Amino acid sequence: MSATQTAQPMDGTSLAKRIVEEAAAKAAEISRRTGTSPCLATVLVGEDPASATYVRMKRARCAKAGIQSRHIGLPTTTTTTAELIDTLADLSGDPEVHGILLQHPCSPHIDERAAFEAIAPEKDVDGVTMHSFAAMSFALPGFVSCTPGGIMRLLEAYDVELAGKHAVVVGRSAILGKPAGMLLLAKDATVTYCHSRTTDLSAIVREADVVVAAVGRPRLIRGKDIKPGAVVIDAGYNPGNVGDVDYDTALTRARLITPVPGGVGPMTIAVLLAQTVEAAANQLGMQRH
Ligand code: NAP
Repeated sequence: MSATQTAQPMDGTSLAKRIVEEAAAKAAEISRRTGTSPCLATVLVGEDPASATYVRMKRARCAKAGIQSRHIGLPTTTTTTAELIDTLADLSGDPEVHGILLQHPCSPHIDERAAFEAIAPEKDVDGVTMHSFAAMSFALPGFVSCTPGGIMRLLEAYDVELAGKHAVVVGRSAILGKPAGMLLLAKDATVTYCHSRTTDLSAIVREADVVVAAVGRPRLIRGKDIKPGAVVIDAGYNPGNVGDVDYDTALTRARLITPVPGGVGPMTIAVLLAQTVEAAANQLGMQRH
């Protein structure tokens, strides 16, 4: 690829729309066949405006797709980890709820890991439990963390061959970087993880056939470090609609690249909705789709 060539942007908005339409059609079929609509329970501890907006967006998208939602808002200061665990355990045992989403991050006094583990694996449509992570790592049935799941669907939609390719994942968080690497490994990529203690990030990125940026640092990955013809997935989202990759310079070297916004972002909610519908189908005894 020449220095003047421009990468093809990967259109997450259109792909997410198709996934949501499929989820909506399956939700309608579930309602018709069982008399029950899929239902997602959302749990939010505290009043953080960004988290409240995310939950509102997710519920609005559910409503548009024919998925019911039930919201439980808990006060920040008075909610204990034990109370949050009780709430999640109740939802796990409630036959009218098929998926559960605990909005991350919880306030600092909450033991978030303990709370996540109170979500029944069959309702863990956000893919946050240790069970889900292990199932994903062993390639067993289960729900994946939504953003990494969305990244894999994007790679598949653009026919990106992963077997034998070197995938470099920058970031190792439990919800994003780490599961993204495990999913790439399951597709036979050779995976390198980078993080804040990595020395010479540029040198490692330069070797990558596929780069997944999942850091939260504006334009950390520079275009000059992108191997010509590489596939660049930018999961980062920073103030001002800026990703973790310097898009304009990466565009001249990559073969495929996700824009910010409109790349990975829309895929997360789409996967959440698809997994909620799948959870409902499983719990209501319908055939796995
Ligand atoms: P996080 O929990 O803060 O993790 C950031 C990761 O980046 C950590 O593993 C950290 O390393 C690593 N890191 C920090 N500075 C680095 C550096 N200079 N070089 C290399 N690695 C570095 O963040 P997150 O929740 O994974 O989110 C990452 C980004 O993705 C954010 O911009 C977030 O907004 C975005 N995001 C988008 C979606 C979506 O739907 N599109 C969903 C989730 C997150 P250590 O482990 O060593 O600290």
